[in-house]
Amino acid sequence: MDQMELVSMAQRVRCSVDALVAVDLDVCDRDALDDVLAQWRTVRSFTDACEVRIARRSRLLAAEGRSEPAAGVLAQGGLRSTKEAQAAAQREQVCEAMPVFESALCDGAVSTGHVDAIAAATGRLDETEKAAFNEHAQQLVADAERQSVETFARECRELARTLQYDEGVARLENQRRQNNLRQRVDRVSGMHHFHLEVDPESGAKVTAAYTAHLATLRVRHRDDDISRDRLGAQAMVELITGARAIDRRVPEVSVLIDLATMINGLHEASICETSDATMLPPDTVRRLCCDAEILPIMLNGDGEVLDLGRSRRTANRAQRRALRAMYRTCGHPDCQTPFDHCQIHHVIWWERFGLTDLDNLIPLCSRHHHLVHEGGWTLTLGDHRIITLTRPDGVTYFTGSTIDRQPATDRPHERVEPEPDRRRRTAA
Ligand SMILES: [Zn+2]
Ligand SMILES: [Zn+2]
Repeated sequence: MDQMELVSMAQRVRCSVDALVAVDLDVCDRDALDDVLAQWRTVRSFTDACEVRIARRSRLLAAEGRSEPAAGVLAQGGLRSTKEAQAAAQREQVCEAMPVFESALCDGAVSTGHVDAIAAATGRLDETEKAAFNEHAQQLVADAERQSVETFARECRELARTLQYDEGVARLENQRRQNNLRQRVDRVSGMHHFHLEVDPESGAKVTAAYTAHLATLRVRHRDDDISRDRLGAQAMVELITGARAIDRRVPEVSVLIDLATMINGLHEASICETSDATMLPPDTVRRLCCDAEILPIMLNGDGEVLDLGRSRRTANRAQRRALRAMYRTCGHPDCQTPFDHCQIHHVIWWERFGLTDLDNLIPLCSRHHHLVHEGGWTLTLGDHRIITLTRPDGVTYFTGSTIDRQPATDRPHERVEPEPDRRRRTAA
């Protein structure tokens, strides 16, 4: 912002301050409040823009070793909390990268919430991805001017996701690694505390199981005076301990994906998320579509549900039986995970549009299922159930039959060593 702009803005702010002083807030009606808010916004925009400029100056001074970092300056002299000061410092960086947002902030056309949404969405992007994000500045500022902070934040998250080279797989893997459960007993009250932290995919499954059982309990106890929190605890305890009262049917988790994303990956208007709107990478959703416990809901470009028929999607009992007859273990040549612990993978699910043919199905353990969907490995299945496994770099890792059932041993949990002649590796 140059000096001329600043002077004209200061004039507007002075007018607004005068107007705010003149109005009697103790008696004004609802319409008058709108006028007051408009004046207040002008003043606030000015102070927000000032804060951005202060943050910028302290960042530049800090770079020369003449100041502490921006967040420290704002926290100390600006009496901001550490969190607020950090947010303001990040806001300045967004304004630096996208000056249109600084102007819009000055004019009161967007709020700090809009700018902070960009900072939050781009926090995990690398420099190249951030540069690609910033190219959308004009469109973003136009959207921010007419959208609520929440709607705009979602748009930013979706844009950031489409720009990530791996469509968010690395992030989900990272979240999965951070899964943890902490447990402690409060010595004074004697109460047990559990703190469970899990990735979005696991979270969606837990939530589905929990809400389904909680609903059952609420019906059962509808005449009792029991708080929702207490019923929630009871639901969780019964679920974990497998109390007799539970209907063990696995509750349905749904994932939503549009057809174009399913086939080609993320695009600007992708829908690829759990039913509670937690976004997932398309590769993860493709893997979940193989899972009998998950209901994939496929949408067309207009967001309408495409009816693909659930019954055709998961392997039926006869097909499972046929597969179990051929596979003692996971279909990966190096894996001894028993068949009953495997998921039935649809080798070319999305091209076949959900068709569940035996020659398109192979059991895979959870680890190898991940490898094929999210790990960049390719698995093809040919005649006589010959599979070809290709590494992410295009090198063929294995070609051969995957049938590992020997006629005489029909005990599913027995571990067998793979036969070297049949499981020959071919290096390409
Ligand atoms: Zn699969
Ligand atoms: Zn396996």
